[in-house]
Amino acid sequence: MPRLVTVRLRPSGGIKEWLRGRKLADSQAASWLLGYLVYRVLERLRRELSVEKVLRPNLPPDHPFKKKPGDLEPWEARGCVMPDAVELVVDGDVDVREVARNVKEVVERVLEDLLRRGRESPWERRDDLYEPLTGWWKRVLKTAGVSPPRIELPTGLIQASVAVVDLKDRDDKRAYREAVRRVASLLATRTEVMDAEGSEGQPCSVCGRYPIVGRDSLWEELSKHLPPQLLKEWSAGVERLCPACLLKRYLGMRVLRSWYPGRGDDEGGAGGVSWIPSTAEVAITPVKVEVLNEWEDLGDDFRRTAHGFLKLVLPEQLRELARYLRCVGARDRAERLEEAAERLESGRLAPEDLPDEVARELLRRTPKAPRLDERLRDVDDPLLRALLCVEGKFWYDPRASRNLQELLETAELEDHYTPYLALLKLDGDRMGGLFSRDPDTTERASKATIEFGREAMRIVYEHYGAPLYCGGDDVLAALPLHASLDCAFELEEAFRAHLSEWDRTCSAGLAVVHHLHPLRDAIDLAYRLEKRAKEAGRDRLAVGLYRRNAPERVAVLRWEVDEERPWRLLAELADLVSRRAAYHLPRDWWEGWWKELEGSEDHDPEELLRSLLGYVTLRHREEGADEKRITELVRRIAKTAGKAAPEDGDPGREVGRALEIVLELRSECPIGGDES
Ligand SMILES: [Zn+2]
Repeated sequence: MPRLVTVRLRPSGGIKEWLRGRKLADSQAASWLLGYLVYRVLERLRRELSVEKVLRPNLPPDHPFKKKPGDLEPWEARGCVMPDAVELVVDGDVDVREVARNVKEVVERVLEDLLRRGRESPWERRDDLYEPLTGWWKRVLKTAGVSPPRIELPTGLIQASVAVVDLKDRDDKRAYREAVRRVASLLATRTEVMDAEGSEGQPCSVCGRYPIVGRDSLWEELSKHLPPQLLKEWSAGVERLCPACLLKRYLGMRVLRSWYPGRGDDEGGAGGVSWIPSTAEVAITPVKVEVLNEWEDLGDDFRRTAHGFLKLVLPEQLRELARYLRCVGARDRAERLEEAAERLESGRLAPEDLPDEVARELLRRTPKAPRLDERLRDVDDPLLRALLCVEGKFWYDPRASRNLQELLETAELEDHYTPYLALLKLDGDRMGGLFSRDPDTTERASKATIEFGREAMRIVYEHYGAPLYCGGDDVLAALPLHASLDCAFELEEAFRAHLSEWDRTCSAGLAVVHHLHPLRDAIDLAYRLEKRAKEAGRDRLAVGLYRRNAPERVAVLRWEVDEERPWRLLAELADLVSRRAAYHLPRDWWEGWWKELEGSEDHDPEELLRSLLGYVTLRHREEGADEKRITELVRRIAKTAGKAAPEDGDPGREVGRALEIVLELRSECPIGGDES
């Protein structure tokens, strides 16, 4: 008799909690760790059981996990595409305890392997870093047991739920639904506070949730020996991490580095994976892309101002890299960087004359937005390379402001300079129904979502974004502002294409946040916006603007109406309208008008919106803007919004808010434009 074996791995606090970090790298490592564990569980069960069929995850033969490192496309090494569930049809007797034991062992082995690799890292001599983690691990092993069909391992970190159900035949729909329901009910929302002895209850500075490993004094001490890339130091103190965040930050990256070894040129074992960009790096990307594209036309004035800017920020960046190199014991290389920094400052060295090894170190160790990183390897102008290797945060250095201003003005880059970036969370609509129908549907839907996920990785990469999580139908990514709307539309199109068999739509939230906005809150915002898009009726994009010291602005519009994209039309309109219009748009007025006229006899939403929007945008049009084009765009926008379904509420209000948002975004960056 065939049996269905279902395993689900779920971070104890839920996936959103698991992805929350202080750096983009924290989130990406978390997503890798989970994907890797699921893959290893799948491999193990395939070996141990006589598997007839894998329903989920239905990995194509050229899935990145199955490829040789040298064969990977650049975007395939930037993150992983893996759902959180394993479903197998197995022939013969299967004991649920046996499966649970297998899963437990896989999780234990992977984590133990991580601990071992951690000790082999360049800061191996920092045993005190691993002592508390090893101590915690030993206690976890003692307390965590298998109590099938659910295991919690390690306590508070990962839950695994296992179910085994008999199938009358391979297409036994009723038994299949029962199995799916059973596993879902096992995934209780049990969240335990992690055991972390000696922490004095202080919460982790990364997740803010679990108590930290070890005492305060340990972190103070470690901060003296660890590079700032690994342990952030503030004026008020240093980061203190809980076991889960410690695992993710220090060891999670090792999973992918060991998975893709030897692809890069880094002797430190970084493989094909360079530093994950910071939020500041993602935000500054529009400027860098523009410089890269316009370089040949920028001329001598630009080179001269670039010198001024580099002379100010590059020495500090070189010193930071040198500090990192010292921490990992590479003293000679550190010294060369420090010497170059000094000579740059005193004017004895020009930025384009950096010694080869210093330039190489700069290129290799600077976190850059994906794709830019790849393109930089082809740039042979040393000044351009040095400029584009300036790490994001130095572009926002207040001390550089005068030099930076001059640089931006000479190259007419002001419009591209923004401290904001976007976090996009996209999720398929009603996907649960698809994965609980019958074995055959699950198998095909799994294939379709994983294929969409792979394309999503490529799309995010093409838009200079950093993928943070990709569970198939579920995508979280950090994007430069100028490419965020285009990227969202492309993802939506790809989603519909891959799931066209079931006519599935998706909903997304796009949170526009300052690069200094705490990442864990920003991730919450993106999730909340996605929820709002779903609540408004699904198949929608919610955009939220979270300016510093300003109330949030949120609007939800359909992805597409009559083959028009309302968000894109509004962004186009924003290009023709003065920035000031954003502040002159009377919000109450939008809402008031609509309500008042709703009762009247000739209430025609489309007509009303057209006159309203036309009045505001023509009055505040940009100097020289084509009136006819404005009128035409307004007509098309009114047409799409006028067709809004009842659940959209007041279309005038939503469009009014959306226009405010795109105008404000426009004043930051050309968001509607093509990024290439
Ligand atoms: Zn934590």
